[in-house]
Amino acid sequence: MGEHPNPFKRNVRTPAIYQEPTPHLDKDNPFQDMMERLDYAAELLNLDEGLYEYLRSSSRIHITSVPVVMDDGSIKVFTGYRVIHNEVLGPSKGGIRYAPDVHLDEVKALAAWMAWKCAIVGVPFGGAKGGITCDPSSMSAGELERLTRRYTANLMDVFGPDKDIPAPDMNTNEQIMAWLLDTYSMHVRRTETAVVTGKPLLIGGSEGRREATGRGVMTTTLAAMERLGLRPAECTVAVQGFGNVGSVAAQLLREQGCSIVAVSDVSGGYHNADGIDIEAAMAYADAHGRSLAGFEGAEPITNTELLALDVDVLAPCAKENQLTGANAADVKAKIVVEGANGPTTPEADTILDEKGVLVIPDILANAGGVTVSYFEWVQDRQGYFWSEDRVNRRLDRMMRAAFDKVYDASEKYDTSMRIGAYVIAIEKVAGALKLRGIYA
Ligand code: GLU
Repeated sequence: MGEHPNPFKRNVRTPAIYQEPTPHLDKDNPFQDMMERLDYAAELLNLDEGLYEYLRSSSRIHITSVPVVMDDGSIKVFTGYRVIHNEVLGPSKGGIRYAPDVHLDEVKALAAWMAWKCAIVGVPFGGAKGGITCDPSSMSAGELERLTRRYTANLMDVFGPDKDIPAPDMNTNEQIMAWLLDTYSMHVRRTETAVVTGKPLLIGGSEGRREATGRGVMTTTLAAMERLGLRPAECTVAVQGFGNVGSVAAQLLREQGCSIVAVSDVSGGYHNADGIDIEAAMAYADAHGRSLAGFEGAEPITNTELLALDVDVLAPCAKENQLTGANAADVKAKIVVEGANGPTTPEADTILDEKGVLVIPDILANAGGVTVSYFEWVQDRQGYFWSEDRVNRRLDRMMRAAFDKVYDASEKYDTSMRIGAYVIAIEKVAGALKLRGIYA
């Protein structure tokens, strides 16, 4: 994908909060990383300067203070974000994450990634992301409920089934989506199920949504194996992250015959050269506060060791900036499949490219979640619900088609799949933007 630093960096005429990364966060700043890739792809496409400037800008940034009465009666004020990257293809779509290190540039990057993801898989949404800077592990269910309800109330004018549709992301789940749905519905005086996706089945959720991101990781990995002439039954896999994405990806790849030799979570890594019993690991995590700490079906290893294991497939499914300039040279996998958003820095991209590693980029590999979110939204609006089999078949078909399109673009432009994915996304969003024109 070329050299680092990026030789194609363009001059931006109107630097602003909407277009520029926050200067003091330049190091490992996901928004900066997102724009570096966008730069390359825009250059390959010889994109018009004005269109490019539009694509790199968040269209709206909402920052809201979220006061919560804590269980001890004290008041704590949290910072909540919702960034709309753009709505060119339809209402904006994207999850909400709760974490202590949530910051504006991360949310801006994640919002842009949602826009590219939706364009790549072909769902009619723009991109958005939300977040609250908080430590959910230290909060009670009641505190989380009040936090969620107040955040939703503050953003009533932003959310809406035709406007902006949230979903779960890191540390948010079906229950949080249920509170969001309820709060929104109370304000509009009717039950509005299509305002949020990733909600429980009982209140308009979709079959297959919880597993969708992991399932998309599995589908794209199989597609990549096919291209490389690898047989799943002969492949070993290491999965970083054992949350909703990593655990399901591991389970489904195991079902396809792969041997999952390592998994990890915040408690550390677990390695077993003979293959880990993923069902047992999932049951263990469920029974131990969603943690693998103390899991006995494998030897403990460090996160650094996990990333450098001699495996066929490495699936970073945890968080940003895991494969960097410092450790990418140690990667021995033939395929890296990014279940997480932004796990690989641009510097690492260059190294992995030079090593000939096939990287299935996040905006393709983890797009299964938003694809089934789209199915959920369609079902809510129709009031007609699909079987799990139907959801899975359609998801597999769309992920497979998206993989092929991105792979072909990477061959056509003689570039990485990541830049191929950006090319597909830019072509689509810029094409739609040209048709719509700029309203004056
Ligand atoms: N949070 C997920 C993602 O990063 C899903 C978003 C959605 O379904 O809207 O893709």
